[in-house]
Amino acid sequence: MSFSADAKAELIRLPFERNCCIVTELSALTQTTGSLSFHGGGRISVTWQVENAALARRIFRMLKDGFGFAPTLQFVQHARLGGRRTCVLTVGEDEAPRLLTILRMMEPGEDGQPVLRRTLPRPQVTKACCRRAYLRGAFLGAGSVTSPDRGYHLEIVCRDEGLRELVIKQLEHGGIHALQRVRRGSAVLYLKEAQAVADALAMMGASQAVMKLENVRITRQMRGEANRASNCDEHNTERQLTASQEQVEAIKLLAIHQGLFTLPPALREMAELRLSHPEASLEELGQLREPPLTKSGVSGRMRRLMREAEELTRRLTDQKE
Ligand SMILES: [Zn+2]
Repeated sequence: MSFSADAKAELIRLPFERNCCIVTELSALTQTTGSLSFHGGGRISVTWQVENAALARRIFRMLKDGFGFAPTLQFVQHARLGGRRTCVLTVGEDEAPRLLTILRMMEPGEDGQPVLRRTLPRPQVTKACCRRAYLRGAFLGAGSVTSPDRGYHLEIVCRDEGLRELVIKQLEHGGIHALQRVRRGSAVLYLKEAQAVADALAMMGASQAVMKLENVRITRQMRGEANRASNCDEHNTERQLTASQEQVEAIKLLAIHQGLFTLPPALREMAELRLSHPEASLEELGQLREPPLTKSGVSGRMRRLMREAEELTRRLTDQKE
């Protein structure tokens, strides 16, 4: 399976935790893969079309286990699209108004009967758990991520403005800035930096995918470091190299087993600085930072990083025993 399919499979397997998150994830999936059908006389049904059968099952379970709906599931074979099979889930006319009210796409009208909202429906996404669920739903419905072996790229196609705004908002809450372009009339939000891709995957809950990405990134950095070390200045004392090698090893361990994104920003910054300048002295590292840090500032942070790595090693050894 591709890296993207693996990441999605991992997200699809995540258990449902709270009803609030089921609503937000389902909202995002409806905004990306759902549509409304109008049957006259105010009768409406809701349909989701997805190619991924596991995703169809997840939507089915959200509807059934979360809210007691009884959606129908059909498989449609497309002769024209190279025989691709699409899973079509439908919530029929009888149940659609209750569902659309839960999704905030309908609201009670003057006579108390639900009517479609005139303004763009906006699911309420305020809690941290729901932010993660919303991003996950949008990614599952309209996203993809490139294998880190081929570069860092994660994108979500936003077919409407409400979706685009909400996805940007959730990413920004996670400190992630998305770039934008337009493709075939739809806005595409995308991330290009390894850290941003890893942070977004972590936010959605794809920790296996994050670990794989961090592994590739570290291997790449280590390779670059080996090349630099071979041209390394003779004036570097043996002792200094040993200390920085220990630091690099410790940071590598943290990156692989828990991800650098789990560290406080000051430590994560120092960890990345050390990885990209493995042979620099502490003074030099301090000078490389914007704004510069004193040698004692650098060494304080480095000590905290080493302590984090020691704690991690202790936890890993405990697990083995
Ligand atoms: Zn929630």
